[in-house]
Amino acid sequence: MKAFESTSKYFHRAADLLEIDDHMRQALLMPRREIQVQVTIERDDGSLGTFVGFRVQHNKSRGPMKGGLRFHPEVDLDETRSLASLMTWKTAVANLPYGGAKGGIGVDPKQLSTRELEHLTRAFVDQIHDIVGPDTDIPAPDMGTDHLVMSWFRNQWEKYHGFHPAVITGKPVEEYGAVGREEATGRGVGTLTIKTCNRLGMKPADTKVAIQGFGNVGSHAAKFLHESMFTIIALSDMTGTYYDPEGLDMGAVLHHKLNNPDGTLHGFNRCEVLPVDDLLTLPEIDILIPAALGGVINASNVDHISAKVIIEAANEPIEPDADDQLNERGVTVLPDILANAGGVTVSYFEWVQNRQHYRWTLDRVRQELDHTLSNSFEQVWQVAQSKNVSLRTAAYYLGIGRVLNASKLAGMTS
Ligand code: GLU
Repeated sequence: MKAFESTSKYFHRAADLLEIDDHMRQALLMPRREIQVQVTIERDDGSLGTFVGFRVQHNKSRGPMKGGLRFHPEVDLDETRSLASLMTWKTAVANLPYGGAKGGIGVDPKQLSTRELEHLTRAFVDQIHDIVGPDTDIPAPDMGTDHLVMSWFRNQWEKYHGFHPAVITGKPVEEYGAVGREEATGRGVGTLTIKTCNRLGMKPADTKVAIQGFGNVGSHAAKFLHESMFTIIALSDMTGTYYDPEGLDMGAVLHHKLNNPDGTLHGFNRCEVLPVDDLLTLPEIDILIPAALGGVINASNVDHISAKVIIEAANEPIEPDADDQLNERGVTVLPDILANAGGVTVSYFEWVQNRQHYRWTLDRVRQELDHTLSNSFEQVWQVAQSKNVSLRTAAYYLGIGRVLNASKLAGMTS
């Protein structure tokens, strides 16, 4: 199933509950604007490299549009549209004063030198600078982009429009970034995992966790959960699955990643090393955290998932049919638009700080993050109980309801 079709399916389920008519559904679902641009750079060897870039601005009823930039070979218009719509519902679930957008370039950033990556980012800004801005559409990191890309983006954008660091979030801390932004998505995933466990009566010390993806999100989630007494039994990155049924030595794992020149777990041998794909279907997992690509839990493996709880740290990691099966089996799924909302929440804090020229402490960032996510979690849990629906449908219900309300208050043509 194509990505936008999947998210639309979830949208309609919640829209049925909200009794939204077809015309309104159309207005809420269709993006406001989609642009596709050519991004051409001179490669290091003097040849030309031409790539395709996108920005989809989905909805702005609740505030300026907000969402990351993804640099990945699979980026296309359909995926960007789907991810942009997720941002609309995600910012609404977290009750941030934003709409939703997403962008990206179809490129494998690992194949580019740092110089080429910088040129690519700047060339992309040259194409889209007119449609983004601190009051209209504010990009941020996503898969394949980091604080350096954000810094280049800001610098290039300011050449056209003058100083305004709030045009983008996820910047280096030394350059108007927020302390705590880098850890935010993983920390949020950890916080929400604990909340889910509390509700289900699962004790951290007796709970075995497996995390797919050991990049920014996966590694911060693993660290946080380990510090919260959970037993991390498996981790994977593109080099393999690292598994110890008794619990991995997380100090050693993190030390290894930090000191490995390529930042992977390659060469870590104080546990069993299995093929990459084995992580999802390992036996006796209590909590599974997909923190990498979309669509990884699907018809091919859903029957072999042992986890009782899945926390969607990645966007769209479960195909809708597999999601239905997991629901039928009583697996609790904390949906992406809530589970990974920690990132955009601290992006919001960064934007606020930039606009006030004031710096928050790490303690304050963490406290307010906890507060925002806890509120959203309680509200979503409440809807799921009272309407007797899955947490995903409850999150969409809450998010779509808020966007609908704002649209009506402003008049639908705004
Ligand atoms: N890319 C992240 C997401 O999918 C963060 C977006 C942001 O900070 O604006 O939620």
